[in-house]
Amino acid sequence: MPKLSIFLPVYNEEENLERLNQKIFEAMAVLGHTFEIIYVDDGSSDHSLELLKQFAAADWRVKVISFRRNYGQTAAMAAGIAAARGEVLIPMDADLQNDPADIVRLLAKLDEGYDVVSGWRKDRQDAFITRTFPSRIANGLISKIGGVPLHDYGCSLKAYRRDVLKDVNLYGEMHRFIPIYAAWAGGKVTEIPVAHYPRTAGQSKYGLSRTIKVVFDLVTIKFMASYLTKPIYVFGWAGVVAFAISAFSGGFACLMKFASWPKHADFIQTPLPVLAMVMLGLGVQFFLMGLIAEMLVRTYHESQGKPIYTIKTKLNFDESEAANERR
Ligand code: UDP
Ligand code: MG
Repeated sequence: MPKLSIFLPVYNEEENLERLNQKIFEAMAVLGHTFEIIYVDDGSSDHSLELLKQFAAADWRVKVISFRRNYGQTAAMAAGIAAARGEVLIPMDADLQNDPADIVRLLAKLDEGYDVVSGWRKDRQDAFITRTFPSRIANGLISKIGGVPLHDYGCSLKAYRRDVLKDVNLYGEMHRFIPIYAAWAGGKVTEIPVAHYPRTAGQSKYGLSRTIKVVFDLVTIKFMASYLTKPIYVFGWAGVVAFAISAFSGGFACLMKFASWPKHADFIQTPLPVLAMVMLGLGVQFFLMGLIAEMLVRTYHESQGKPIYTIKTKLNFDESEAANERR
């Protein structure tokens, strides 16, 4: 088993790969740890895959996974995580915007007792209006909602201890939220500034629209993490609020009609009775949705044998059982 698994999603990066591969090997030579490099070709339509095959033929520590079509960076990262056998997992971009020489410092920080060390592109070399600025707002939001203050979730270069990634499933643009999952599962998360270079070859695959997807993903994981085991708490509260608004506006409408307080108004003269009825219906819906969600959640946990907790260590248990636990 190697100590380090470096994995890189690759999508049409033919001009960058040669130098990238060389830089990773240089960085590894300095470190002296055992390592593997996993390139995940995400359905490139240029010569990326041929180059990767050459690297793999030249050195057994280079591994290549190639997708049948383009599935996106998150899928490529998930494949990298699934294939990695190292103690420490290090994702990286394949466009030379990250510097493999920073891995030394990530590892040093990890050794201080952290489970996740996130790279922070302090001096980011991307377009300000479409990339850097929206990303700054998104990072603020993610930090606030996720409860893990990091400057740069979007930076690919990070280092993870293997066990914090064990139960992480990635969807959408969610690879950037791994530090949040890790923190929620009890991992210690920190960040250090890393180098960032402008893209000199090939094209960026993203624009502004990604920031919006990221915000949707954030709402999803917040919901999943906080309420996955008890959705009725969320829907129940929404139901209570709807009932309260209904009772208040209904009551007020009656006061105006029957007691002429604060002044007389018939039911059809104010929107209050309609509001009362709509909110009543909505409240009932919320409760019913909460109950359906409860059923879904039970199906989710029970069908997959997913526990509602994560275990860090178990002592003196049967060996095979412990191995099972570690997978
Ligand atoms: N990438 C990928 N599949 C895609 C889009 C991108 O594997 O559908 C890879 C790409 O080759 C690069 C990394 O993801 O290694 C980051 O992409 P990019 O540099 O375009 O993003 P940016 O740095 O502009 O955010
Ligand atoms: Mg890039």
